[in-house]
Formats: sequence, C-alpha cells, structure tokens
Amino acid sequence: MWMKGKGRDMRKRKCGQKIAVVLAAVLLLSQTAITAYGSPGPEAMPVLGEAVGMVPGTEPAVDVGQMPPGDQGTTLSPVITAGNDERLTEVAGPAAAEAAAEQAAAEQAAAEQAAAEQAAAEQAAAEQAAAEQAAQTAGQAGGRYIDPNKPMVALTFDDGPQPSVGNRIMDCLAQYGGKATFFVVGDRVAPRAAEMRRMVAEGHEVANHTMNHKYLQKLGAAEIQEQVNKCNDAIEAACGVRPTNMRLPGGNYNLSVLANTNMPMIQWSIDTLDWKTRNAQSTVAAVLGKAKDGDIVLMHELYGQTGDAALQIIPALTEQGYQLVTVSEMAAAKGENLQAGRLYSSFH
Ligand code: ZN
Repeated sequence: MWMKGKGRDMRKRKCGQKIAVVLAAVLLLSQTAITAYGSPGPEAMPVLGEAVGMVPGTEPAVDVGQMPPGDQGTTLSPVITAGNDERLTEVAGPAAAEAAAEQAAAEQAAAEQAAAEQAAAEQAAAEQAAAEQAAQTAGQAGGRYIDPNKPMVALTFDDGPQPSVGNRIMDCLAQYGGKATFFVVGDRVAPRAAEMRRMVAEGHEVANHTMNHKYLQKLGAAEIQEQVNKCNDAIEAACGVRPTNMRLPGGNYNLSVLANTNMPMIQWSIDTLDWKTRNAQSTVAAVLGKAKDGDIVLMHELYGQTGDAALQIIPALTEQGYQLVTVSEMAAAKGENLQAGRLYSSFH
C-alpha cells in the first residue's frame, strides 16, 4: 500500500507542476499582450508633431510633463511654436550656419555697395553744383553785371564810325571790361560796317547821330525826321541793331527838334572839347578828377588824340572804381525809363 500511497503523491506532484507551468504560460502571454497594446507613450508624439506642422524630430523640445493631462491637443501647439525657430536652427546644423554666414556676407556686400553708390551720387551732385556755380560766375563775368550801388560813368564817342580810333578804344575797353556808346553818323556807316558789327558783338551801344550831321534846329519837321530815320536805317542795315537813343549834332535843338526826333536825346555833363584842343592830355584832364557817378562824357571818335586820351581815361576810371557803362545801361541802373522827345544830360 505504500507503493499505492506513494504513487498517488507522485501523481499529485506532477499535476501541481502542470498547473504551475500553465499559470506561468498564462502570465507570460498576459505581459506580452500588455506590452503590445499598452497606453500611448512618448512614441505617439511624432504623429502629433506632424499634425501641427513641425519638422520631424522637433517634439523633444516640448516638455510633455508640464502639460495638463488629457489636454495635450489644445496646449501643445503654442508651446511648439514658441520653441520652433530655435529648434529649426539647431536642426539645420553646420550647413545652415554656413548658408547664414554666406547670406550675412552677401548682405554686408550689398550694404557696402549701396553706401558706395550713395557716396558716388553725392559726389556727382557736389560736382554738378560746383559746375553750375562756376557757370554762373562765368556768366556774370562775361554776361555783364552792373552794380547799381557802385559809381558808373558813360563814355560816349561821336561822329564815327572811325575804325582807326574806334578799334583802339574798343581794344582798351575789352581789356578793362568797360562798355561805351558810339553815336555814329548814318552816311559813314555802310563802308565801315565791320566796326559797327564789332561794337554790337562786344556789347557797346550803337546810337544815332543823324544821317548827315546837320544841325537839326535849322531843318523843318520832315527833314528832322528824315535825318533821324535814315540814320537808324543805315545802322540797322550795317549791324542788325536799330538804335534806341540819339545825340543831336552840336547838341543844338529847339521845340521843333524836340517834337520830331521821336527818340530820347542824350546830351552830356562833361564836355572834353577834344575836337577843339586835339590834345590827349587836355582831354584826359577834362575827365579825370572831375568825373562823378552818373556822368556822361562827350568825346569824338574822329581824332587820334581822342583815342590816345581814351587809353588813359579807361584804365584810370576803372582803377578809381567806376563802372564804364553804356548810356542805356546807366539809365537802367539808375531806374530811368528813357522817353522819346526828352533830353538827358546825366543820371546823377
Ligand atoms: Zn557830332
């Protein structure tokens, strides 16, 4: 019976072992199932990251542990956005840093080029301003500027044109920047048109001294008008300019003359008597030390001594500060509107 009893224990022991094996197997299968179907862990995050537009691998920047449980969907997006730029830079790595350096260098080069272009533009503007200033200065020097606040004298030469004298006078005036007025006789103009054209070209005033140098107070109205008009025609034909002022031969006039010339009549305030003395020094002495602002000086182009005198008078008056101007220039500078039929002997 011992054997029988012993055999029964053996069967019980084997049965217990089987049960243990089965239990162990069940336990193992249970753990495997838990592992395969466990709750969502960190592995689920890539899906969530892609859903909000993140680059794969961005999610570790988010501290999931700080999120409220069960509210990850609504709070995750702004947190990710906040850290996104920094994360992108890190993700880009050395290649991005190199690209950024190249971009910075390109931007610096562009900035330097812009600065260089601006500097060049400023230099060009400065050069243009300087050129305009120089042109303006040259224009004033060559284009005639008369200062009404500085003294001026009008030198006048009658009875020409006479090139042997007139050209010497104009040479000297050109040297000192002065201008003069030439009252020419109409019947002398045509053969001496070249000198007339020089007068005009160099800025002198060509004016009327009648056609035949007749004393107008001895003529009738029609003859007075004819003497004036024919002279103007001859001058205009010779040099293209029609005079606006005239001088009466001998300065002689009466009421009929005043009524019929139909031009301003220019007399004088300094009479050199050069035609009478025929002496250069006498002519010079008649002007220097006596001329004053607004004077009109009477001389005659016909005489060589007058030419000699002019070559002394012109530099001397210039050095004394006088502007040598034409009659029309002086009238304008003094604010005088010259009128036909009136006499003018000075602009004091
Ligand atoms: Zn005369």
